[in-house]
Amino acid sequence: MVNQHDVQYATELSERVLAFLTNHNIAPSPINYSVIYIYYSNQNKALKAEIAKQMSDKKSVDGVFLEHLFNRYISNNEKVEQAILIPFESTLKKTLYQINAQVVNEKETAKNLDLADKALAKMDDHKSLHKVVNFLLSSIHTSKSQRKSLTDELTKTSEEVSLLRTQLATSKQEAIIDALTGLFNRRGCENMLKDFDTTQLHSSIIIDIDHFKAVNDNFGHSIGDKVIQKIASIIKKHIGLEDIPVRYGGEEFVVVIKNKSQENAHFIAEKIRTSVEELKLIQRQSNTHLPPMSVSIGIAELEESDDWPSLFERADKALYQAKNSGRNRCVIAEPVAA
Ligand code: GH3
Ligand code: MG
Ligand code: MG
Repeated sequence: MVNQHDVQYATELSERVLAFLTNHNIAPSPINYSVIYIYYSNQNKALKAEIAKQMSDKKSVDGVFLEHLFNRYISNNEKVEQAILIPFESTLKKTLYQINAQVVNEKETAKNLDLADKALAKMDDHKSLHKVVNFLLSSIHTSKSQRKSLTDELTKTSEEVSLLRTQLATSKQEAIIDALTGLFNRRGCENMLKDFDTTQLHSSIIIDIDHFKAVNDNFGHSIGDKVIQKIASIIKKHIGLEDIPVRYGGEEFVVVIKNKSQENAHFIAEKIRTSVEELKLIQRQSNTHLPPMSVSIGIAELEESDDWPSLFERADKALYQAKNSGRNRCVIAEPVAA
């Protein structure tokens, strides 16, 4: 829950930040804004020290320096969106609204002045007044064009906020998703498991491609990559939407299967194993068939004494047994010794 005090604090801070940027003649881009926001809110001692040093050495800061600080201290900070971009956007919106309101008022004034101007032009004895009205009219037009450029600038800034937001979301996504397969990577898996209720029934399977090295050796690394992608898509196809598929290492996958016993997980593992076995892969360029592929799978069910590492370790032991007993098979882990 965001309370009123937080909102007020963020808004005040936001206004101070914009004032700083204006005083230093720095564009109010989201990057510049974020850095100065962190500076004023005392969230990062190292960043604050760097700015203080720059100010005392060079007496000023610029956009290049702020971008360097952003990349160094902020770009990977998960809180940047909540703490900075949202209040920034709301200040922007408010400013744009105020400018627009002023423009509407002035349109009205300009219309009245215009009427006065026309009326006065017809009367010889009001020549001096006519000049004043003319001056007011032209000053309104000047400030209107100034405001137009400010509005344009702010509109551009709010577009930059959206872009930065997308970039942050992408980089957050990239940090947890494996680029080759689109499955979670190990870090993503750890993130997901943080929120998992370990008191519930869960199983986990570990899948390793058999004799994968031979694919690389005989067909090259990029065909090897395609095989990894193909097997990843088979895995995805056979698991539930709530399950967590992970590319755990090079050609090794983990799936955390929610609310399922090891027997149910075994059923899913068998479907994956037989689908891989049935795969018919052709290298298009040379029109050569790849040799049949297979996977070995270890399965374990979460027990009371388990945490995630111990569950994975038991599944890994079962995988080792599957490899040692001939590959292309699923093995269920031994229960934890009483
Ligand atoms: P086993 O049946 O015992 O699992 O045999 P294997 O050849 O699959 O096992 P091993 O672990 O010795 O070899 C795995 C190979 O996977 C070694 C490595 O070159 C390859 N590999 C790992 N990551 C990638 C990747 O991202 N792309 C490709 N093409 N190959 C990879
Ligand atoms: Mg292997
Ligand atoms: Mg392996």
